[in-house]
Amino acid sequence: MATMKYPKRLIEVDLPIKRISAHARREKSIRHGHISTLHIWWARRPLAACRAVICASLWPDPADDLCPDIFRKVAREQMTRWAKNNLHLLSEDSRSRFVAISKDEQKLDDLLELRAALLDFIADFANWDNSTVPEYLETSRLLTQVAHEALGGEPGSRPLVVDPFAGGGAIPLEALRVGADAFASDLNPVAVLLNKVVLEYIPKYGQKLADEVRKWGQWIKEQAEKELAEFYPKDPDGATPIAYLWARVIQCEGPGCGAEIPMMRSLWLAKKGKKSTALRLVHDHDSKKINFEIIKNSTANDVLTGTVARGSAICPFCGFTTSAKSVQEQLKNAKGGASSARLIAVRRDDPKSGERGFRLATDVDVQVAAGAIQKLKINIQAKKSELSLVPDEKVNPLPHSVNRLPMYGMRDLEKNNLPIKEYYKKAIDNQSVTC
Ligand SMILES: [Zn+2]
Repeated sequence: MATMKYPKRLIEVDLPIKRISAHARREKSIRHGHISTLHIWWARRPLAACRAVICASLWPDPADDLCPDIFRKVAREQMTRWAKNNLHLLSEDSRSRFVAISKDEQKLDDLLELRAALLDFIADFANWDNSTVPEYLETSRLLTQVAHEALGGEPGSRPLVVDPFAGGGAIPLEALRVGADAFASDLNPVAVLLNKVVLEYIPKYGQKLADEVRKWGQWIKEQAEKELAEFYPKDPDGATPIAYLWARVIQCEGPGCGAEIPMMRSLWLAKKGKKSTALRLVHDHDSKKINFEIIKNSTANDVLTGTVARGSAICPFCGFTTSAKSVQEQLKNAKGGASSARLIAVRRDDPKSGERGFRLATDVDVQVAAGAIQKLKINIQAKKSELSLVPDEKVNPLPHSVNRLPMYGMRDLEKNNLPIKEYYKKAIDNQSVTC
């Protein structure tokens, strides 16, 4: 059987990586309209790089002997059109080349010059500001279509970009943008949901979807505030606690010590100029427990290192290092250590100053937490549904670099139970949301 020989694609001969990287870096600070604002996803790939890589992978190198003439012809027409009509849309880096082309169209008969013009176009298209400019979209989609058909694609069909580990959805999104079809899949259900929203729901429902998300988000917020208010009682000065900071504890295994060590990687609570806040350890030698003080406007000199380094715990009393293995063993025996954890500090919203700050935890906070646990137990006993009130899926028992729960004896998510989780689950169960 004869095998069809393909020309090299642009990405196999060259790519303006420096310019694309600059656009990728800049993209990180963009908030409005960027998919990164939909949901947090680690290892999110910059759209700039994906767009450039997809174009350069779908388009052949015009200077390759096997490049179809029709692609060269359309690419030449398009780049000439850009030189004549769209100079204002090009960057400084590209402009001199296109000005020269506008004065002498014959320049593009040199196939290396045509390749360079296409790479300039790709570098400028990587710019976030150009990602929705009609001229860029039209040219890129036309070149994708011509390349696809010229290289054997069925007329009228589109090339297919397949991303089996699509994650945050950058590659399939950019494939659609430049005129390809996309298949996206992922093992992680969060990634699948992200891709469905980005690739299917937003194009299909548009503003209606945004309105519904806002409406139901507000509804959940109001209901949650009503039902959870008793677990976030206002401070005497009117400020509202918004987060409770806990630390798991282990016992120092230093000879003759046995002190309680709160496990804290860092003693910083906030590290933002004048709002910098940190904890200071106060040793209670009688009880061999650590108490805390809050340092406001703290500087690096005021703040000591935490009590945890690479999984092992350093005793603030005797300086002994309890090994990571022993720490894991202790927490394993304590089923993760959530029930013996210490409430350390409270983050709060001050309505008068409008600022968020911290205070130390008090006995009242501890009672409130105990009340929340009690309420949860009552609700669990009273529940009629077969579904658990809190997520209780088994976690993968094999520990690895991402899943560290089993290492510390946590076998299911229930051990991390919180009234908030329970609340959202219940609220959503009780309300059939339709949009
Ligand atoms: Zn010790």
